[in-house]
Amino acid sequence: MAYDVQAIRKKLQGSTRGRFNDPDMFKPEKAQDSTTPIKYRFFVLPPVMKGDTTGSGPATKSMEQFFVTHGNHWVNDRPHPCPRIYSEGADECPICSFGFDLLREEQNQEKRRLILNQWMPQSYYMVNIYFPSVKTNPEDLRGKTRYYNASKTLFDQWTSCLLRDDAGDPEDPQAFGVFFDESAAFCYQLEVLKSGRNNSYKTSKFLANGGDPIAIANKDGEPNTKAIQKVLESRIDLYSKIEEPDLDKIKKLASVMINGDDDDGFDEDETLSESSSVSSKPKAKSPPADAVESDSLEDEVPFDADADADANADTADAADAADADAGSDDSDDSANKEIEDLLGQLDEDDD
Ligand SMILES: [Zn+2]
Repeated sequence: MAYDVQAIRKKLQGSTRGRFNDPDMFKPEKAQDSTTPIKYRFFVLPPVMKGDTTGSGPATKSMEQFFVTHGNHWVNDRPHPCPRIYSEGADECPICSFGFDLLREEQNQEKRRLILNQWMPQSYYMVNIYFPSVKTNPEDLRGKTRYYNASKTLFDQWTSCLLRDDAGDPEDPQAFGVFFDESAAFCYQLEVLKSGRNNSYKTSKFLANGGDPIAIANKDGEPNTKAIQKVLESRIDLYSKIEEPDLDKIKKLASVMINGDDDDGFDEDETLSESSSVSSKPKAKSPPADAVESDSLEDEVPFDADADADANADTADAADAADADAGSDDSDDSANKEIEDLLGQLDEDDD
């Protein structure tokens, strides 16, 4: 019998309610400590070009940058790819559109935050990363390549680095430039701290190495070209890891979320199952508690609407991840700016 492996994988991904553990994906441990971070060291790898050898054969599509963005609406602990993010704004998403309408009408800062968390997708910056064989890394990751759905906190640091022309102050040199250049790179140290119920990555940083970039693989201080080549060929075709949005499903989901219209074709095993909070209480803006407890994709589950005070930082991060072009600090000013930016972007897109 001929099996369609793609279809089987898709089905599996669906039936595991977003908890599908892809062995190619790196997911940091859940932090238990709010002062001593779990640390990982990795190199972000250069973009994969069409035809490049990857771990799964020749790449089908070129990456335009060192990352690929994608976004999920999280509903009942399950990810639903957002068509607006996937198409980079070309397609409309009824869930986002509803959220944008609410944002336009709402001036109250707190309520706007809740709208962001409830209706806007969580965006990710997907990158290939390579874990060098160093003690900091868990043994099973040493010398391995994975893909990683990074949050905006990290992405902001990476873009700042890219925009720096030099190491700056010799007393306190910084990583700068094309940090993912395989023969002149800067290693990144991911630091995971517990913050409320979530992971916080705020203390993560580049290892500046005195301002001198290094090759991702060395031999006697010289770039080990063979080893570098091997690492590059172990990169992952990121597009093969992104689930394409299902427009029909998103429309139905939006209808259920907005109108509570729950008898228009949702099967039990489809989107809104056992925990019927969305379908039975469509006007209740809070998701079930288990959506928050889940370790679904990674750190910042965006539905942490009623998080306690010390989780505020991560709530802000989740909102940052919601496609907003703003800094990661959670002061009221920056939150306001973030929402204005978001609405500004939308108006440009719309008109
Ligand atoms: Zn959307």
